Amino acid sequence: MARDYYGTLGVGQQATDQEIKRAYRKLARELHPDVNPDEAAQARFKDISTAYEVLSDPEKRRIVDLGGDPLQQGGGGGGGGFGGAGFGGGLGDVFEAFFGGGAGGAQRGPKGRVQPGADSLLRTKLTLDECATGVTKHITVDTAILCDLCTGSGTNGDSKPVRCETCGGAGEVQSVQRSFLGQVMTSRPCPTCRGAGETIPDPCRKCGGDGRVRSRRDISVKVPVGVSNGMRIRLASQGEVGPGGGPAGDLYVEIVEQQHEVFVRDGDDLHCTVRVPMVDAALGTSVNIDAIIDGPTEISIEQGTQPNSTTVLRGHGMPKLRSGIRGDLHAHLEVIVPTKLDSKQTHLLEQLKSMRDRDSAEVVTTGSAHSGGLFSRLREAFSGR
Ligand SMILES: [Zn+2]
Ligand SMILES: [Zn+2]
Repeated sequence: MARDYYGTLGVGQQATDQEIKRAYRKLARELHPDVNPDEAAQARFKDISTAYEVLSDPEKRRIVDLGGDPLQQGGGGGGGGFGGAGFGGGLGDVFEAFFGGGAGGAQRGPKGRVQPGADSLLRTKLTLDECATGVTKHITVDTAILCDLCTGSGTNGDSKPVRCETCGGAGEVQSVQRSFLGQVMTSRPCPTCRGAGETIPDPCRKCGGDGRVRSRRDISVKVPVGVSNGMRIRLASQGEVGPGGGPAGDLYVEIVEQQHEVFVRDGDDLHCTVRVPMVDAALGTSVNIDAIIDGPTEISIEQGTQPNSTTVLRGHGMPKLRSGIRGDLHAHLEVIVPTKLDSKQTHLLEQLKSMRDRDSAEVVTTGSAHSGGLFSRLREAFSGR
């Protein structure tokens, strides 16, 4: 799938070169590793730099606008079409895009056996408490590592790779196709050596010539305080080793935040619901809550608390990534009216009612300030004001 380079920089597809440059500079100032050593920021910095590199190059930008990805290494196949195999360094000749995928573009000749490794992504589940306090996670990674028998050369013992006989070492084979445009010369990666230009007649017994083997290993990931769902931590060079023992890609660990049974997170703020019996709402009370980080914390319910009111505990929310400054905890108060009363309770409430004979149910006028938000809002909606 093509990457969203415009989205990464936060600009539209119509953005001018100036606007792209401005957007990149603004983000780069915030995310530059010298300013912002955080892992997630460094990953972001890499992404925006890549996006800028692509969109500031007219050739590459054109490929993006056609729905392709100029940085995607197509290798073999692709079967034509714009979204398929990469076009190498540039579009070169637009006809190549129509005939045969993975046309060499500007990068002619064999691509060599040694290739950089791919980045890997894995996800790890974190509780809300772990997001709040930070945690060291132990994760099992299944990736390609360097073959220890041939140390990446892919050859058995002292044997050496030889030049590919099919393509003569060029890494690609050419063919002529007839089309409505006349005869068109197309090239595609050599099927024998898959573009490397050389083959291994006596491959390594362990890796079969690939130079790498699959392996499971355990790693520890230090998750900083204040992460949230979807954030990625980058571990440089912990991804897959490339073909032929090429340099390893990066490993990204994505945070999957699990739902808490009491709190709902909104950025750095937390929300919870507290049920308050009618009498407690009238008289006032307090309730204990097991807050994130702080543990047992008292929430005081004011005398005369109204339904749907909120009380805010400043600084009892989630810590912000990097700064550690904490958001707020919002307790939403739900006043509960009893549905069943025994005769004694009924009597008591009737006594209370007789003492407050001015409290009675009444229909309010729409203009009255006490009409609550509902009718005035409805009226505004219907009168279009
Ligand atoms: Zn070949
Ligand atoms: Zn090997």
